[in-house]
Parts: sequence; C-alpha cells; structure tokens
Amino acid sequence: PIDVVDLGEAGPIRCNRCKAYINPFFIFFDGGRKFKCNLCAFDNEVPSNYFVNLDMNGRRIDADSRPELKKGTVEFVASKEYSNRPAKPASYIFAIDVTWNSLQSGMLARCVQAIKELLYSGEKGLPVGARVGIMTYDKSVHFYNLKSTLEQPQMLVVADVEETFVPLSAGLLVDPYESKVVIENLLDSLPTIFEATRISESVLGASALAAYSALKDHGGKLIIFQTSLPTVGPGALKNREDIKLLGTDKERNLYEPQEYFWKKLGQDCCTAGISVDLFLFPNAYIDIATIGALSSLTGGETFNYTSFDGQRDGLKFSEDLKTLLRRTFGYEALLRIRVSNGLKVSDYFGNFYMKNATDIELAGLDSLKSIGVALHHDGKLDEKMESGIQAALLYTTASGARRIRVHNISFSNTSLLGDVFRLADMDTTVNYLAKAGKCLNLAWDDG
Ligand SMILES: [Zn+2]
Repeated sequence: PIDVVDLGEAGPIRCNRCKAYINPFFIFFDGGRKFKCNLCAFDNEVPSNYFVNLDMNGRRIDADSRPELKKGTVEFVASKEYSNRPAKPASYIFAIDVTWNSLQSGMLARCVQAIKELLYSGEKGLPVGARVGIMTYDKSVHFYNLKSTLEQPQMLVVADVEETFVPLSAGLLVDPYESKVVIENLLDSLPTIFEATRISESVLGASALAAYSALKDHGGKLIIFQTSLPTVGPGALKNREDIKLLGTDKERNLYEPQEYFWKKLGQDCCTAGISVDLFLFPNAYIDIATIGALSSLTGGETFNYTSFDGQRDGLKFSEDLKTLLRRTFGYEALLRIRVSNGLKVSDYFGNFYMKNATDIELAGLDSLKSIGVALHHDGKLDEKMESGIQAALLYTTASGARRIRVHNISFSNTSLLGDVFRLADMDTTVNYLAKAGKCLNLAWDDG
C-alpha cells in the first residue's frame, strides 16, 4: 500500500517557485533551515513546524521516519484549499437502453444480471459509501425512485426529451445496500416491463443530459448501455456510413465527430467530475467517432460488442463490466507533471481533457489508466547531474477522501544511446507509441 501522509491544515510542503511537492530529492542545508528544490533549484525556507536538525552527514534526523522523505511515491491528505466542493463518495448511474434491439439481443437480461452480481455477489462491489441510480430510456427517459422505505421502485417517465429534467430530488441516488430489496426488484422486473416493446429508436442524448444533471453536484460515473445510433432527440445523429467512401480520401471524414453536442457534453461531464463509460451493442452503424467523445474526454472507456448475442457474448460483457467497476477508482482529478531544469513537457497523449497547457483534467481514472507524456530538452544535459520528474495527481478517492498522489523519479543523464536502450521499459514504450500514434493521427485529421 502507498503511505498516506497527513501534514494537517497547512498541507504538504511545496517549493515556492515551481510548486513541486516535497520529495526525497529535496536537499536540506543551512542546519536544516533551508531546502533546495530538485526540479527548479530554488532555495526555500523550511516552515518552522517542519524544521528539524540535520545529522553529521547533513541528513534530516527524521529522514527515515517520514515517508515523503524516504519513498518515491506517497499520497498526501489534501487540505481545504485543494477542493472546490466537499469531497464525498462517488455516485454511479446506470443508463440502460430498453428498445426492441436491447430486448431481442438479450442485452437487457444480461445487463441487469451483471449489475446485480456487481452489487451483491459477495466479492468486492462498489466502494463504501457509493450511491447508485438506475435510468432506462427508449423514446422517453425513465427514472426510478429507489428509496429503501418503498416496497417497490416507482417509475417516472419524462416524455419531453427536448427539455429533459430530473423529476425526483431524493430517491434517485441511493445506498445500494440500504435499498437492496428495491434495486433487486427493479432489475429483476426490467426485462418483463419492456418485454412487448416495439420501439426501436432511443434518445441517448436526452438520457445522458439528464444523468449529467443528476450527477453534476456529486461527481462519479455514468455507465451507458446503448444498442443503436441515437437518431432522435438532442444530439441526434445521421447514418452517414457510405461504403463508397472507404479507401478514398474522404474515408477519414467518417472518423471525425459529426455533432458538437457530444463533445460539449463530454467537456461538461469532465468539469463536473463525471467519468462516462460506454457499452455499445450495435447491429449497424453507431458512430463511435461521435458518441465516443463522452468517454474519451472523461477518462472513461468504450466497449463494443458488434451483433451482440446474449448467449454467446453475455459472459464476456458481464465480466468486462464487473472488472471495470471493481478496479480502484478515483474522480475529479487534476494531473500536473513537473520536470527539472533543462527538460520540458512537449505533449500529452491519452483520454483526458485540457483547459490550459499544463493541467490534465480527468473526470475519473482507475488503476489501469495510463497517460503518455513526451519530454524534450533543448540544450545538452549535464552528465554529472541528475534529471527529475514529478507527477502530482489531485483526486477524490471513490470513498470520498481528497488526496494528492505524488510520484517522483530522479535519473542520470547519458549521451550513450546504448544506455537508453538497455534501461528502457518495453511495455511502457509500446504503450506510449500506441497512444502517441493514435493521438497524432487524430490531430492530423483535424487539419
Ligand atoms: Zn522548485
């Protein structure tokens, strides 16, 4: 486990110039009254409440007992100034397409089963304190009151999809264990409620907007299960697939988003700390290039099951969902990379959103997410000196603690190419190249 360091209301010690967090490579001097930042070389005063004497070798006498002076990775408890709103456990909304397609393919049956297993099968479910809501949609959007005192869930239908609102203030997001009976009751009955449906169109846009309104004051995850191209309501898309374009210069247009609505909603979700995961079950063109913005801008994931067959693909889908939601998850995150003098960050690759040139906004992230960062140096680096990188991630844990996870590394500079190859990590390199390739390719398409 990673050491958690709580330095009280004052928060972690930081360099006054570059704002780097305290780490094992800060050098203390002047009897312990000052420290030199390993990244920008600025000489800082040590705050009086952090002062201790240095030993004969010039090390702080508490160097071995403080994780932040001993370990490359630590997690600081974030003080008040690091939060825009009180941190609370993450909320999860499952938004499920209940059109004819969803019933026929067996998706709905598999989906409710998987959610039940996720929540109640005994293994690690959602994080402690998490809240859960369930929505369904076809041509209208359906909300469910899941209050634990109800005997059975109440369904509320919003048919005006141009101006969707959330028709209930309490009971939409509930504790899944307190409301276990009501939630299981709902999940068990959904396939029967929509059994006879003939509706084939779905208002994904309206449904996602409504989920955004319900989650925006909380942050967390929106998990969408969609079977077809959303052709009605806000953000409606056209079927623009044209076989004649394949193999021509115009083919690349098919991989560009066709409707701004989805990008805007993705950005809004990101700002509100809502990470969106898409589970898609298309029998025909579904335009991932456009709706995929919801997950790519919010640090979410997209799963695609073409021509889904519940019998054949159900197990895979259900395992994908459970694995995704059982991973360690954090949300409302901000990542900042700092590098030592002589180095510069030149590019970032991955699923996130950037409002400015230095801060990476991640609505959510989990233990399998990675981000590629390209560094460059203009002049020659001194081979007698080391270079350093610090990655600081401010985020809220899924159970509602505001933290700053800091990774530090310091490495020698070399002019020998052989050293670079000998010490490079193959998995990291391949991951980086794949990310950079995809991102640069998209940028190229933007013209
Ligand atoms: Zn500094």
